[in-house]
Amino acid sequence: MKQNKTTKPTKPTKPTKPTVNLVPLGCPKALCDAELMLAKLNDAGYKIVGEPGEADIVIINTCGFIGSAKEEAISEILEAAARKKDGINKRILITGCLAERYKGELQKEFPEVDGAISLANNTDIVSIVERLEQGEKVFRFDGKPTVDMEGDRAVITLPSYAYLRVADGCSNCCAYCAIPLIRGAFKSRPFENIIKEATDIAALGVKELVLVAQDTTRYGEDLYGKLRLPELLNELSKIDGIEWLRILYCYPERVTDELLDVIATNPKVVKYMDLPLQHSEERILKAMNRTGSRAELTELIAHIRDKVPDITLRTTVIAGLPADEYGESEDEWTSLAEFLHETNFYHLGVFEYSAEEGTKAAAMSGQVDDEEKARRRLIIEEQQEFRAAENLANEVGKTYKVLVEGYDRYLEMYFGRSEKYAPEIDGLIYFSGETGIPLYDFTAVRITEISDNNLIGLAVTL
Ligand code: SF4
Repeated sequence: MKQNKTTKPTKPTKPTKPTVNLVPLGCPKALCDAELMLAKLNDAGYKIVGEPGEADIVIINTCGFIGSAKEEAISEILEAAARKKDGINKRILITGCLAERYKGELQKEFPEVDGAISLANNTDIVSIVERLEQGEKVFRFDGKPTVDMEGDRAVITLPSYAYLRVADGCSNCCAYCAIPLIRGAFKSRPFENIIKEATDIAALGVKELVLVAQDTTRYGEDLYGKLRLPELLNELSKIDGIEWLRILYCYPERVTDELLDVIATNPKVVKYMDLPLQHSEERILKAMNRTGSRAELTELIAHIRDKVPDITLRTTVIAGLPADEYGESEDEWTSLAEFLHETNFYHLGVFEYSAEEGTKAAAMSGQVDDEEKARRRLIIEEQQEFRAAENLANEVGKTYKVLVEGYDRYLEMYFGRSEKYAPEIDGLIYFSGETGIPLYDFTAVRITEISDNNLIGLAVTL
């Protein structure tokens, strides 16, 4: 795992310090938390290693968003516990959303764990790890649910891209979502801090910045009394070296014309929008404390495409949402499937509703049973596969600017992403070309065929 310091030069590692590995689970916001902690530990002289099996101290930065994320975190904890029993890992520390959410329960459930801390305690990671080294158990859950977003980061994504957090927390309070309980209210970072961090990251050779927050479109509202994402994008685009700016997690109500104009006209802002709609039906959206209807959302998508004709759209939806009296009905689910067919998102994620304790939706009387949720998710996924195959077929013969991210020795092909693909979630383009194509930089690729829902191409000179 490559780890770059964004600002200060790395201090020499003291040989007496134990080795540390951090297992980064969850979303890009959690990854930013992990990178802040890694930079602090690196500065304090801990040697950061790439594999948990090589580490004296393992920090598992967990996600506690939905059932499947919690299961993944628990499986990592159990693996670390097994390594500790075998004398490989000496200490285990749990950080992140699962620790924030389940606090003292972790100590009870996993006696092998040496510590767990809330998000507010991430800033004290060095002193906490030092106490663990001394054999102390540290379970610390101070403060309100909030996270410190400032400081140096050890960027651990590929050298080609980095996430840029513009805010954290959420004040939308969707009825199914535990995020406001875990991470508190929406909080923007100061404009100048974001620009400074982006400039430091660009100096590492990073080409693409992916802007993240729980609701990126809300950026600025709490701190400056107005939405400042468009202005932020324009300012970021002036940074030398950054060629792509991408926005994830836009909230439909806050997709303004000003934002669409920036996406349409600023050549560094990729024509891509991630717009998690969650559902299309008014009754369900209302029960979820969201707004809109199928007609309004259809109109919004048409408006976005009108303003930015070549835009690539991604969304996520939830199958089997509850509501009072009765949960998502067959008709409502069918209407959602039709809406997705008509709007034809290039990328789509479908989740089964997961009842999260403490949320309003979990207490609603109308719930959909698990088998039915799974059936609905699978059908929407299958339908999306057909649409995706058609969309990909239309790509053959087109040429794209591709950010090269690696070489697959087995396939004997390079791989990378065009602006239509966000890192980690949207897939890759595989292509052949002369040897010597520079990694982590751009090249032009002509799409020649599709294989297993992947685009295949050839590097070309423009
Ligand atoms: S906007 Fe997203 S993060 Fe915020 S409450 Fe709704 S689902 Fe959760």
